[in-house]
Order: sequence, then C-alpha cells, then structure tokens
Amino acid sequence: MATLRSMPAIAANHLFVRLPPAVQAALRPQLRIVEVTRGQILVDDRQTVTQIGFPLTCMAHIDAPVGDGRYAHTGLLGRHHMIGTHVVHTQPFGARRVTVLIPGYMAVCDLALYRAQFKRSGALRDMLVWLQMHAHRRIGQLAACNATHNLQQRLARLLLQIHYIQDLTVLPIAQADLAHLLGVRREAITRALAEIEAAGIVALARSRIEILTFEGLTARSCDCHAELVYAGRYDYATLNPRRRA
Ligand SMILES: [Zn+2]
Repeated sequence: MATLRSMPAIAANHLFVRLPPAVQAALRPQLRIVEVTRGQILVDDRQTVTQIGFPLTCMAHIDAPVGDGRYAHTGLLGRHHMIGTHVVHTQPFGARRVTVLIPGYMAVCDLALYRAQFKRSGALRDMLVWLQMHAHRRIGQLAACNATHNLQQRLARLLLQIHYIQDLTVLPIAQADLAHLLGVRREAITRALAEIEAAGIVALARSRIEILTFEGLTARSCDCHAELVYAGRYDYATLNPRRRA
C-alpha cells in the first residue's frame, strides 16, 4: 500500500505546471492522486468520460478502432499530457481508447471543472491549439514510421520514446504490450529484444527492459525518435505566451 509520502506531486506533470495560472489555481484543490494498474482502461469510447487525468508516474497508450473489435496503437501519453480532455476540445471527434501501459500514479479531477475553465480561459484555448498542432505532428510521424521502417528500427525508436517521455532507464513493460504498440506478434518482439540484448544494448527481465547504452539504441533506431521529440515539443519552450488571462 503506497503512503502519501511516496506519492508524486502534481508538479510531476510538466503540462499541468504550464497551464495558465488561473486554470491551475481552479483545478489544483480538486485534484486527487490515484493509482492505476497495467491494462486499466482510462477512456473507453463506449462510455461517457467524467474525469480528466494528468499522468504523474504512469504512462498510457491511445488506440483507434480498426474493426472486428480490435484496436491499434496511435500514441503515447505520459507526464507531458492530459487524458480525457478531448471530449471538451473536440466533442464529436471519433472513437478512441486509452489504456495504462506503465502502472503508477495519476492526478484526476471532474471533467466539468475542466470544461468550465476551457470556456472561461482564452489562454487555455490558445494553448490547446498549440498542443493539438503538436499532437497532429506526432501522429503523422508515427504513421510515417510505421509505413517505412523495419521492426528493429521501430522497436529501438519506441524504447527511446518511452524513456524520453517518462525519464525511465528501466522500462517496466511487458513484451505483449510492446507487440501491441508495434502491431506485430509477440514472437517477433521476443526475437527483436533478444537481438539487442545479445548486442549489449538492453538487459531483459520479466516485464522489464533496462536500457544499457543509449548510443547503441540510437544507432539501431530510425530518425523518427528525433523527429518525434521535435514534433512533440515536450520541452514546451515555444509554448504560445500570447495571452495570459
Ligand atoms: Zn521510424
């Protein structure tokens, strides 16, 4: 059982601390920190969204329906993102599912509270235009990567991406989840991981991948990680400061 002492603070979410100050002040007293587990569905396209979440130590993946009840991976969400707000920004916009990839903590509050802030704050709406633009770039880069690069390149790109988003060197990820994220069979992931383990790039344990050399991993990766870092603009250095209200 986690104690309050070991729970991360809301400041662990890099997006929350860059929201307009008035929005932060309105949301902060209402935030609750909750623990989420691997495979937990945070947004289900068949159910009404009632809460929004700011990932702290957890990470989630977004999937789009591809028919026959199956879903395919379209993006990752971590400490630079918020979850569930899409129903406020683009209400009629299509189906999606968000599932926990790496278990951990998340700060949540009622969607209605966020919706009221989105109506009230021009600064928040401006910021969302900027965030959506980068989200579109990330999705485009991922689509290009999946259409162009081989599994070894894409696996290295994904491990670098997860490390970058959540600042982890030991990735607590199951091979079955990697197979889903890369759209291949589990056996193909097992072979690809064994190859980079033999090259001394990672050390494998059950549901755990430790990155031993970033140079080795970068050399195996396509250039899409670098492009994703640029496209994602996770440093928020260029965040639109035009309006501050
Ligand atoms: Zn690529």
